[in-house]
Order: sequence, then C-alpha cells, then structure tokens
Amino acid sequence: MSNGTSYEVLARKYRPQTFSELTGQEHVSRTLQNAIESGRVAHAFLFAGARGVGKTSTARILAKTLNCEQGVTLEPCNVCPLCIEITRGSSTDVFEIDGASNNGVDDVRDLRDNIKYLPSHSRYRIIIIDEVHMLSTSAFNALLKTLEEPPSHIKFIFATTEPHKLPVTILSRCQRFDFKRVSVVKIIGRLRDIAESESVIITDSALSLIARKGDGSMRDSLTAFDQVLAFCGDTVSDEDVITMLGAVDRRLLAEISAAVFSGDTQGVLAGVKQVDTVGYNMRQFCQELIDHFRNLLVIRSVKKPEEILDLAEPELAELRQQAASFSPQDIQRRLTLLIKADGEMGYASFQRLILEMALLKAALLVPVIPIHELLDKLKVLEAGSVHTPSLPWNAGNPAGSAAKAPRVEATLPKPQPILLPVQPAPVVAAPSGSAGDWEAFVAFVVNTRPSIGAVLEHGSPVKLEPGLMEIGFPQASYFLTSARESDSVNEIQTLAREFTGRETVVKIKAIIPETGDSPLSLAAKKKHEQQERMEQLKQEVARHPVINEALRIFGGKITDISEA
Ligand SMILES: [Zn+2]
Repeated sequence: MSNGTSYEVLARKYRPQTFSELTGQEHVSRTLQNAIESGRVAHAFLFAGARGVGKTSTARILAKTLNCEQGVTLEPCNVCPLCIEITRGSSTDVFEIDGASNNGVDDVRDLRDNIKYLPSHSRYRIIIIDEVHMLSTSAFNALLKTLEEPPSHIKFIFATTEPHKLPVTILSRCQRFDFKRVSVVKIIGRLRDIAESESVIITDSALSLIARKGDGSMRDSLTAFDQVLAFCGDTVSDEDVITMLGAVDRRLLAEISAAVFSGDTQGVLAGVKQVDTVGYNMRQFCQELIDHFRNLLVIRSVKKPEEILDLAEPELAELRQQAASFSPQDIQRRLTLLIKADGEMGYASFQRLILEMALLKAALLVPVIPIHELLDKLKVLEAGSVHTPSLPWNAGNPAGSAAKAPRVEATLPKPQPILLPVQPAPVVAAPSGSAGDWEAFVAFVVNTRPSIGAVLEHGSPVKLEPGLMEIGFPQASYFLTSARESDSVNEIQTLAREFTGRETVVKIKAIIPETGDSPLSLAAKKKHEQQERMEQLKQEVARHPVINEALRIFGGKITDISEA
C-alpha cells in the first residue's frame, strides 16, 4: 500500500462508479441502460438481493445517470458537480435513507413534505431507501400515497435483502431487479485488478481463497482482502491467507483425495493427522472434502463442468487432472461414504475417528467395472485378440451405466468387480405380537431421541408387560454400559411412558445372545435378514448365464454383492 497515512477500506475506495464497473450484475446494468436509452425510466425501482452485491452502488450510479449535468446518460460523467455531489453523498436532491434506522412514520412524513418541492438544481429528486423492508407499516402507508400518484420529478430507488417482507402494494408499484450473488470467478477478476492498482503481490490461489470467503458478496470479499493486506502488507503468501482466513488448504484436500484414490491408507491417515494438527474443525474439513469430491464428480459426469462449477480456470484445470483417471461411479461411491460420515459427525464426539474410518473405507474400495465393459472384454478374448480394452473410465462414457439395481462383485484374476442388474428379492419381515410392539417402540425412540434409539436397536425385548419392560444387552458390550447409565434408564422410562401411556418400569440386564434364550435385537435381526437376502442374491447371480460365462473365462468366483 503506497500511502499508508489514512487507509481507506477497499470496498469504499473501489466502489463502482459506472455501470461498466459493476461486477456480476450485468443483467441489471443492461436493463437499466436500455430503459434510459429508450426514455422509459420507471418511477420506482426495487433492488433485491443478498448483502454486498452492489445494490446501493447501483442506486447511486442510476441517480447520477439521471441527474448528470451532461443530460440523462448511459453512464454518469462522474466529473460534473452534480455527479461529484452524489458520489460524496452531499447532493441536496438525492436523499439516502436507511430503513433500518429510520423506520418511523415521521421520517416518511418529512419525506413527503420534502418531495412536494421541485428539485433545487437537478432534473429529479431521488429518494434511495436502503433496507426498505425495515420501515414500519405506517411508514409504508405514508410512502404508498406518494407512490400511487408520483410527481414526475420524483424517482424512488428501494434496496432490500428481504423483498418477501415488503407489502404487495409497494411491490406492485416498483420495477424489480434481482441482484445475483457474484461468482467466485468474477470476484477473483475484480480482486486481481485491485491488487494490481495497489501493487500487491499475490497468487491466484490466494485470491480464490479470499473470494470464497465472501460467499458471493463482493463487499465481504473486499473486507477479507482488507484484513489480509493489513496483516501481510504488499507481499501476500498463500500460507498467510490460509492462516488469516481459517481456510482449508486446497493442497491438503488434493493430497487426501489422491491418497484415497490410490488406496494409500498411510497417506490417508497422515492427511487426517495433518488436519488435526493444523486445528481445522473435522466436520468442516469433511464438508470441504465432500465439496471437492463433488467437483471431481461433476467434472467426470458432464461435458461442460465450467458451467456448473463456480471455479477459476486454474483450479478447474487442476481438478480435471485429478479426476481424469477415475470413473464417475468410483467417485460417487466415495462421495457417498463421506456424506454418510458427515451425517454421523453431527451427533458424535469422536469426529476424527469417523472421518478416518470413512476415508479408509473409501481408500480400500475396489474399482467397479460395468457389466457391458466386461462383456466387451469377453468378446475381445473370444475373438482371440490380444488387445487390452481401455479402462472403463477412459472409455468416454461419463454418464456411466451404473443401474439402480444391485451390483455384483466377483473376484477375477485381477480383482475387479462386475456391475450387473439383478432383480431385488422381496424382503420378508413378519413382526408379530410383542415383537411388533418392540419394533414400534424402538422406531418411536429413534425418532424422538436418536442417540438412545441407536442403543435400543441393539437391545433384546426380554420381557414386555404392561408397566414393565425388561431389555437385554450383550454382556460386557458398549450398549449394555450405555443403557445402564442412570440417565439412559430414566430417559427410556420417560419415553416408554409417552409411548404406552402408562408408568413403565425399565430394567436393563446382561444377556448372552449366542445362547438363543432371548429374542433377537433389531440390529441382529436386520443383519440376519441381510445375510439371508445376500445368500439368495448369490444363488440368483450364480445362475445368471452372463456371470457364469464370465467366471468360466476368467476363472473367478463371486465374493460379494453390493446394492448400488
Ligand atoms: Zn455528471
């Protein structure tokens, strides 16, 4: 920063002064300029949109184009006394009112008196009301009278972050413009211009972090940039920005995802350790990873990812390179694991462990080969060719063929699972008598108190009588310990009373499930049913001619079936 004596914040110093300088709201600029050109300028405008996206700046630019000494122009000249006054906020014909602090009817009454007079030396009297939704009902009513029969020398410009809070009577009398959140790419462009004007040395990736921090608001991005400059001076390193903004280092995301895809379990755990050392919040990091994997998935699934993803070109190029060797299905399966982990982290205290487990599982997944790829291989082999078909994820079929049917994985000489649609078998479940009551009760608890419900799913309904509930848990298990805690017992009793409508004594006892003396817990029952279903599927699959042919030729055996 060249003259450090009086530092002007960037948002003010670089406030756009012309329509062409407005970043990310081209649709608004264009429409307003068309209206000016055709001489059909409305009496009242409503600028709606998130904070810091340029609503007030646009209001001032519009005011200048209407009142500029050079005549009503497409762009204000910004040098005539009238333009300069508006820029400085000292124009006697342009009033800026903050709806948040002037919500009384008196202010609006003053305003009404005020607009009776003709403009002192400009073309129009222009009333800009920011956060107009904050005005009181009586203020709105007073305003409405003027809006219904607007004098020709008056223009209203309203700005709001919450247009739905405005009365329809006001909305219907305004020409409405919806301001968009500014894309990261556009914010980076603007930050780059400012960095050059300020002679600041900074990389594009650091600017990208700052732009992201603003979350679509140009003003918030500029405030973040102010903080970074105050901390770093004229030369800004990526590390400083990461520290300053508490941002997640993109390189760490790239490293962990590379470790996941190459099955490098050591690298995965080292990465998580790094996350912990740096002090990131585990869940937040997991969400960043989800975002990262989503980017990879979009890149591998559509032809023009740049139209979907809000990413700068260098980042996109880097992600393209990372995504290149994976199939959309492979990315999707890992993404699913992370999304599940994120959900679990919501109510667990061991977040690091959950993230580690999910990433290890993701790292150990074997790639899936769609059945049609396998059939192609068969054909090639049968034709006696030695040509090795390209890997499916390079076959230019990003849409993938992963059907919604279950997947069959078979071990082949090179362990590669096969995708094959299989008819899902009907699930047989016949709850009866007290077993049904128990299921209903557990479902009720899972709904009302998920953490208790998760424990009860592992409990066996040893005795269910009116007013008595005896629940067995496996000896020395975590579930037994946690159910026995006095808080848990009390809660279960309260829940049982709510559910049955009577006082119920709850007893927790240790059982040995293997003896078969106690009814199965819901978790055990579910597992049992799942096993039966898998067995059935395996038999079905084993009878499938395509699979038989594949197994015969490759000399493999079915190891696992998974439902996609
Ligand atoms: Zn001017």
